[in-house]
Amino acid sequence: SKVNQIKEGKASINCSTEVFYNPVQEFNRDLSLVILDTYLKNKLWEKGTKKPVETNFKLCEALSATGLRSIRYALELENKDPIKTFIANDLSMKAVELMNENIKSNGCDKLIKTTNEDACLLLYKCRDHSDKFLVIDIDPYGSAAPFFDASVQALADGGLLMITCTDVAILCGNASETCFAKYGSMSLRTESCHEMALRIVLHAVNSSAARYGRYIVPLLSVSVDFYVRLFVQIFYGPGYAKMSASKTGMVFHCNGCESFTTQKLGNVTLKNAKSTNVASRYKFTPCTGPPVADRCKFCDHHHTIGGPVWLDSIHDEQFVKLVKERLNEIENTSSMKLQTFKRIKGIVEVVSEELLDVPLYYGCDQICRTINCIPPKSEILRSALLNCGYRVSASHAHRSSFKTDAPNQVIWDIFRMW
Ligand code: SAM
Repeated sequence: SKVNQIKEGKASINCSTEVFYNPVQEFNRDLSLVILDTYLKNKLWEKGTKKPVETNFKLCEALSATGLRSIRYALELENKDPIKTFIANDLSMKAVELMNENIKSNGCDKLIKTTNEDACLLLYKCRDHSDKFLVIDIDPYGSAAPFFDASVQALADGGLLMITCTDVAILCGNASETCFAKYGSMSLRTESCHEMALRIVLHAVNSSAARYGRYIVPLLSVSVDFYVRLFVQIFYGPGYAKMSASKTGMVFHCNGCESFTTQKLGNVTLKNAKSTNVASRYKFTPCTGPPVADRCKFCDHHHTIGGPVWLDSIHDEQFVKLVKERLNEIENTSSMKLQTFKRIKGIVEVVSEELLDVPLYYGCDQICRTINCIPPKSEILRSALLNCGYRVSASHAHRSSFKTDAPNQVIWDIFRMW
């Protein structure tokens, strides 16, 4: 097959018609470098309480194709410690042969080992406490869901799971029954479907983790181009895993005016602040009753139920601050040379301002279409909501979106008066 030479970052690789290379994913690889570098630099795995037996930490790129991603991690990460070995794996023998050539020609053969296995099999074999991975990168064609169960078990306590899903159409409400089959959640075709997609993937990862007494902390979750990319820390903690129903819930979406309401499956309250045992420290209470009537009170259309989805934060505030600091360092020292640096900075800036405790968003244009008015300037809408005493932010997932803690009634009143 025809072989092409490609240069991306510090790597020069060969790819062929038989082995997958997607130039559009350069942003995905650049962003992953920044996130991984920030995670390692700040020793975030140390937040895990179950100390790994091994000190020879490993990173696993479970679906590696040309090996480009692993080669770039090996060549470009400024903070590699404590990772001593990078494993690049692919089920296709042709891919592994090409990967071996690329790894050698980039001088990475001491750092990167290759394997030719089914990704799940490889990960399941490393479930044992002495052999876990510190970082796992899952970047398949389509859905990453088939790899969640194995990944959450093969990660060390506090380890980092990096996930790409390219089946965004399914996650965004085309064939929600397929979404339910793959992710255990009904997707909705709505204005805020791109954030909902992130919340569906987080729900699926959390469900897998909770089965094994683990819980998730999403560090950064972004919807870009035709895919979603999520960076999630996985911790061991059966007590917290049991509380995850309080971070999960349903979305009620009106088919007429696009009003939406969310409801968590339960609430957690502090029972005994002195107790260090999670089960006796917190009390879990299931939620009761539907939060909406069968018909929407604004337009009398029916509601469609979506979910369950992850309703807690999709980014970690502290981590996003660390990423911003790291980006400033990179800019000032021009150390890492990333083609898509400007775009990364732009997205992280918007993410850092997103309201973390407000799930989903409205599209300004969509509301105006519904009530037939001209869209207000975003500053005017912002100040109207702020003047009414509510918070408001944009979302990185949609250009004319706004997130707000204002009730639906207030939002409609503002638009009708506009
Ligand atoms: N991560 C790569 C990058 O950044 O360039 C791209 C990976 S490509 C989208 C997906 C790869 O997964 C293909 O090379 C395919 O052979 C491999 N693959 C598919 N199913 C697999 C499985 N069950 N286990 C391991 N590899 C698999």
